[in-house]
Amino acid sequence: MEEMSGIVYPCAACKFHHKKCGEKCELAAYFPPSDYENFKLVHKIFGTSYIKKILKDVPIESRGDAVKSMVYEARARDIDRLLRDRIVQLESQLAELLNAKASLSLSLPTVTLHQSDEEFWRTL
Ligand SMILES: [Zn+2]
Repeated sequence: MEEMSGIVYPCAACKFHHKKCGEKCELAAYFPPSDYENFKLVHKIFGTSYIKKILKDVPIESRGDAVKSMVYEARARDIDRLLRDRIVQLESQLAELLNAKASLSLSLPTVTLHQSDEEFWRTL
C-alpha cells in the first residue's frame, strides 16, 4: 500500500487481483503501484502464489533482489516464448510456400532454359 498526497493506492499485485491492499500485504513492499507491468509479467510466468513462496523462503534482506531476479527471468522467458511462437509461424508459412511451389511445378510444363546453339539451329 502506498500513500501519495493523502490518497492510498493499492500495490501492483493487489491492483492486478482487484484486492484490497493493506499493511499486511506481503507484496506491497516489492511491487509498488508503478511496477504494475512488472508484476503482471512476473505473475504470468510464475504465478502469485509462487512469488509469495519465493519471498517467504528468502531472507528479508534479499527479497528485493529476488524480485528483481524474478522480473529479469520473466522478461527473458516472455521474449523466448514470443520468439518460439514466431518461429512456429514462419515454419508454417514456409511449409505453405513449399506446397504452393510443388503444386505449381506439377501444373507447369517443363521448360528447358539452357539450349545449346546446335540444338537451337536444329529446331529452325
Ligand atoms: Zn498489496
